[in-house]
Amino acid sequence: MTENPFFRPSTLDYELPPFAEIREEHYLPAYERGMAEQLAEIAAITADRALPTFENTLVALERSGELLRRVDVVFRNQSSSDTTDVLDEVEAKVSPLLAVHHDAIHLDRALFARIEELYRTRAGLGLDPESLRLLERRYGAFERSGARLGEAEQARLRGLNAELAALGTTFQQNVNAANRAAVLVLDSAAELAGLSEDAIAGAAENARVLGHEGKYVLSLQNTSGQPALAQLTDRSVRERLLAASLGRGIEQNGPIAIRMAALRAERAELLGHPSHAAYVVADETAGTVEAVSALLARLVGPAVANARREAAELARVAAADGVEEIAAHDWAYYSEKVRRESFQVDAAVLRPYFELERVLRDGVFFAANLAYGLSFTERPDLTAHHPDARVFEVFEEDGTALGLFIGDFHARASKRGGAWMDSLVEQSELTGQRPVVLNTLNIPRPAPGEPVLMSWDEVRTLFHEFGHALHGLFSRVRYPLFSGTAVPRDFVEFPSQVNEMWMVRPEVLANYARHHGTGEVLSPELVERITAAEGFGQGFRTVEYLAATLLDWAWHTVPKGEEITDAEEFEARALAAAGIAVDAVPPRYRTAYFQHIFASGYSAAYYAYIWSEVLDADTVQWFEGNGRPVRESGEVFRRELLARGFSRDPLESFRAVVGRAPETGPLLARRGLL
Ligand SMILES: [Zn+2]
Repeated sequence: MTENPFFRPSTLDYELPPFAEIREEHYLPAYERGMAEQLAEIAAITADRALPTFENTLVALERSGELLRRVDVVFRNQSSSDTTDVLDEVEAKVSPLLAVHHDAIHLDRALFARIEELYRTRAGLGLDPESLRLLERRYGAFERSGARLGEAEQARLRGLNAELAALGTTFQQNVNAANRAAVLVLDSAAELAGLSEDAIAGAAENARVLGHEGKYVLSLQNTSGQPALAQLTDRSVRERLLAASLGRGIEQNGPIAIRMAALRAERAELLGHPSHAAYVVADETAGTVEAVSALLARLVGPAVANARREAAELARVAAADGVEEIAAHDWAYYSEKVRRESFQVDAAVLRPYFELERVLRDGVFFAANLAYGLSFTERPDLTAHHPDARVFEVFEEDGTALGLFIGDFHARASKRGGAWMDSLVEQSELTGQRPVVLNTLNIPRPAPGEPVLMSWDEVRTLFHEFGHALHGLFSRVRYPLFSGTAVPRDFVEFPSQVNEMWMVRPEVLANYARHHGTGEVLSPELVERITAAEGFGQGFRTVEYLAATLLDWAWHTVPKGEEITDAEEFEARALAAAGIAVDAVPPRYRTAYFQHIFASGYSAAYYAYIWSEVLDADTVQWFEGNGRPVRESGEVFRRELLARGFSRDPLESFRAVVGRAPETGPLLARRGLL
């Protein structure tokens, strides 16, 4: 039998995981050995008879868990992007074990005693700023994890963490199952009127794969809104599609959400906070529940008013079809009509200008070259985690190799919805590792032989995720704890949002937006109309986002002991109380499929997107108005912010770029909320 490939560091370039050798049966033994190894490493730290030093305690801790990290990054990527029943089982087994493992380290009294001793004497240790920060952050993390609690409280905490981890996995697996179960099956192509021929062929193919030969199947994205709603002319089909989307998963996940909210509230109280939200934001740049609530409250009124103005405009157009009142399932459809009629922008006409390969190379990579001097070489000799995923080597302007970028762009049934970035290898001067980063998207596969044409939103997503990738690639820190995107959640979306600006920069757009058949460039007039049409949708987009945010906020500001009996009822009350209940604009995610907050680390942190956008809008304005060449601005942004990761206070990094504290004006202007 060959040895488990996780047991040794990879010998491939950049320590790229040896995907060609990894089998499903390798994960569980690697996890088990990885956790055992790290506990042994911790035991060696605490058994050291020498007095605690920064080296023998903090650095040793930072170096520990190498095998566990190796398997965990690969597994998390695999189970998100190409899962199987076996991987689902492994995940269900491993996630509570990981929670137990985390507690075993953070509730280790001997380890904490050493860290505390160093923390107490930190002023005299002669540490450089990044090392001092490592000590402070580690100390804080132990405190936040309950290191100071008594025995009985720690035992309760361990129980809460393990149960929450298991529930989070179940929630996610229920979402996946609900997405599969809630597809809309249609009998005739006529019901799909409005969709392109390609999309109809795709729905037929989808039906064949899912065992509904001769019918048509529309699959669901994980958001409330579904792309087909913008095109389907049959109102009743739209209604059924949206109902399938909004109704999925509630029986299974409603009770889980209730239980998780209760457990989180209890844990927060145990750790000295009035609510889970208070516990979470204490470690974010926002700092307090009040600060977040204040920003949200300031946005709700203008956003709702804006959405109502848009609804009136939609109603005017819909009246011609005999539609008296705009329902949620009408919104996207009539928005498209308004875009066509008022702005002369037609999504179907745009698509041919956004061919994936061109958008990637002549858009995303081109912009990274303009701003940062990067170049990219595909490495077909390196194997990624799936045949669809492509590996690129990234080079600096002077030819120095920087890292690897992996792109996994296409949707498949085994991939979870949405788009994200991951780090397979994190940059660290301590370990000598260079970054390997990954972007995952869900761009539908075209019919065989057809080009991959993207929507405007998909193009934006590609630029967005690549902004996260740059954050990982540019990391230049000593300690893995601070590497790349390891910043607070309410900061991490900021660099990725900033990267979206390149999508519409005239010199970039002109370079990539070319008709795939004729090579014709997207005309500047059309670009201007698109931008105007973008402004039109802001009311809807802001309200659906804020509704999801306030829903997250409601679930996680409940105090311990508050009884919730019905998740849907709770949701309705929460939205109404926050003033964000607009019938025709459902939240971007409803409770039952809100995986960000119940399955992936964004609990009480969904606000992070708009919080980050304050910094984003402000920075874009700085890029455009500072009078320096783009390449020079890029260098400042890279050096002072992207490269720093979490090795210094993120807001200090922001100030180092823009020259002052963030201001909300640019965001309000962008979102039409002034
Ligand atoms: Zn993002």
